[in-house]
Amino acid sequence: MNPPQITLFSTPLVSTWVFDETHRILFDAGDGVTALLDSRIHKMRLAAITHTHRDHCAGLMQLLNLRGGAGDFTAVYPEGSGSARAFANFLTHFDSRSTGKVRWHPLGAGETLAIEPDRHFLRGFATNHYPPAGNSRPRSLGYQIVRQVDKVKQEFRQLPQQELDALRLEHGRAYIIETIEDILFTITGDTMPLDPACFRGSRVLMHECTFLEEAEKEEMEERGHPHSCLEEVLEIARAAEVGWLGLYHVSRRYEDEHVLSRVRERCAKIGLACPVSVALPGRLYEDLFAHTVWQGTGAETSKRG
Ligand SMILES: [Zn+2]
Ligand SMILES: [Zn+2]
Repeated sequence: MNPPQITLFSTPLVSTWVFDETHRILFDAGDGVTALLDSRIHKMRLAAITHTHRDHCAGLMQLLNLRGGAGDFTAVYPEGSGSARAFANFLTHFDSRSTGKVRWHPLGAGETLAIEPDRHFLRGFATNHYPPAGNSRPRSLGYQIVRQVDKVKQEFRQLPQQELDALRLEHGRAYIIETIEDILFTITGDTMPLDPACFRGSRVLMHECTFLEEAEKEEMEERGHPHSCLEEVLEIARAAEVGWLGLYHVSRRYEDEHVLSRVRERCAKIGLACPVSVALPGRLYEDLFAHTVWQGTGAETSKRG
């Protein structure tokens, strides 16, 4: 299966937004998202905000002003975010004909929202981007697109069709079938590294990668910027055995060529099996996964078919 078609722009502190055109979902809405996507905003059905740092949501007002009026648009935000609630409240009252028609949907960690097509869900997971607060509800979320699939249970898979049919007739469908999750896409938003178990089985992982070196990350952490660095992200992708890795939210401090060569070098060092694509800051990408920086050692697809 090909990765989804991802259009994005991501410069930390300035603007980040990631449009999954395949699933018609916008993740974050940094400044300029409406101007750059233009009429394609009408293909969107949902915007999911990871957190309310302004570079991730400053473009929401204009987007919802132009897109919300149709009355079929949902905006999802972390339920523990007071700023997101205040912003939703403001936009609801600001203009009843446009932003006021948006359905606002607070989401908790582990909670899901049904999306199209049938049996597809958007699910939130807690990320680590703010100092721990008094309440346990997350102020920042990452998101997954999950599809439920029915499969014949492991113990029956070798049986000929005839015997399967007989079992189904005798015991009912639920006896031979189990429902499993196919995680089509995961996006982290801004976060410190999380347990790789959060991403296990994900076909595609979009992970923030603000820093290239561990030392820089530590220096920034002291100034209150909890982010991830390249080495950690690649380790996570390897441990979680994701099918494809997309890096974004890369600091502007690096030269493009330096980013790309560092990624290749680090991938080679750990022998990362999956292909890797990188969204360099300050650039608009129309189909991120059509650009591969590292092919992966798994000899899987190196290009979208
Ligand atoms: Zn950010
Ligand atoms: Zn942030």
